[in-house]
Amino acid sequence: MIYTAPDKKTFSRQILQWYDRHARKLPWRSPPGKQSDPYHVWLSEIMLQQTTVVTVGPYFHKFLDAWPTVGDMAAAPLDDILTAWAGLGYYARARNLHKCAIAVTENHNGRFPDDPAALLALPGIGPYTAAAISAIAFDRPETVVDGNIERVISRLYRIATPLPAAKKEITERAALLTPRERAGDYAQALMDLGATICTPRNPACGLCPARKLCAASAAGNMTEYPVKAPKKQKPTRQAVIFWLQQPDGRILLRRRAETGLLGGMMEFPSTDWQEEAVTPEAAINNFFKIEGRGEFTEVTLTGPVRHTFTHFHLTLQPVILGVSRPDLLPLEEVVWASPHEFGEYALPTLMTKVARSVLGTDRK
Ligand code: SF4
Repeated sequence: MIYTAPDKKTFSRQILQWYDRHARKLPWRSPPGKQSDPYHVWLSEIMLQQTTVVTVGPYFHKFLDAWPTVGDMAAAPLDDILTAWAGLGYYARARNLHKCAIAVTENHNGRFPDDPAALLALPGIGPYTAAAISAIAFDRPETVVDGNIERVISRLYRIATPLPAAKKEITERAALLTPRERAGDYAQALMDLGATICTPRNPACGLCPARKLCAASAAGNMTEYPVKAPKKQKPTRQAVIFWLQQPDGRILLRRRAETGLLGGMMEFPSTDWQEEAVTPEAAINNFFKIEGRGEFTEVTLTGPVRHTFTHFHLTLQPVILGVSRPDLLPLEEVVWASPHEFGEYALPTLMTKVARSVLGTDRK
């Protein structure tokens, strides 16, 4: 096959013709040729950051059922948003979602602005999301580059610079190909191409509308792109986590600090997450400033809980502590809830794992 370097007109025409026939049907998306609702585009784009389309689908429906408009979301208590978000991870996004809904409602009369600069000024909206909303919801000729599009462009041009340094070059190349007409469909077409044809491990070049224009396909080394810098090893942190239980079965929960990882979410208290190991005995003594078993009527260990965050692995050792005198605990602003009430609190996936580990333990 003869390879020809892609030009804007040929490339976008072929991509859009392919999209007209093969566009994925997604809950937040309008059919080709029609603009999507900005509220839907914004909500889906925030949810899709670091999360797959399959996972996001049910959450998207749940949010729209609860808050059909951006004004409804702005009026909701933050805790309701965090609780509905639980399981999607990266909770700072949920907090910003709420802040952004309030900003759009109060400063823009409940209508998302179409201009990327105004979108960028809103909480939780970065350059990628601003470009995506502007293109998909308002059909402005913005260049949208997500992970899928990054892969397509780096293969089209065999970009040799490793990621993330290659991002600038990829965006510049992508900008030269972005058409002025149907920019929203074009952006979604490239996303779909990357998700369904130009996949990371087995690109189906035989089905690709860009095959004749693709340098990597011509060279037969598609999977070498995008080039990635060698990965750093993730450290493993560990901690002891306390399942404090009153005789009536209620468990102690407290809210994490507003900023930082899992900010504002509920948790079972734990020692600091650090690389050095700490024994349960020492953890209890240091955390509760007591010697030995102190006031606890029961001290039981359950199996460790493992979880992976973006930058580290975490191993938590749950310790079940029976509490007869909650007033003696050196903890403030806590709530006591039965496990069947946990769904009413914004518990992140990690804490749900801890609860499952403890509740699944045979403690007889
Ligand atoms: S021809 Fe192959 S490698 Fe090139 S963009 Fe299409 S699927 Fe990807």
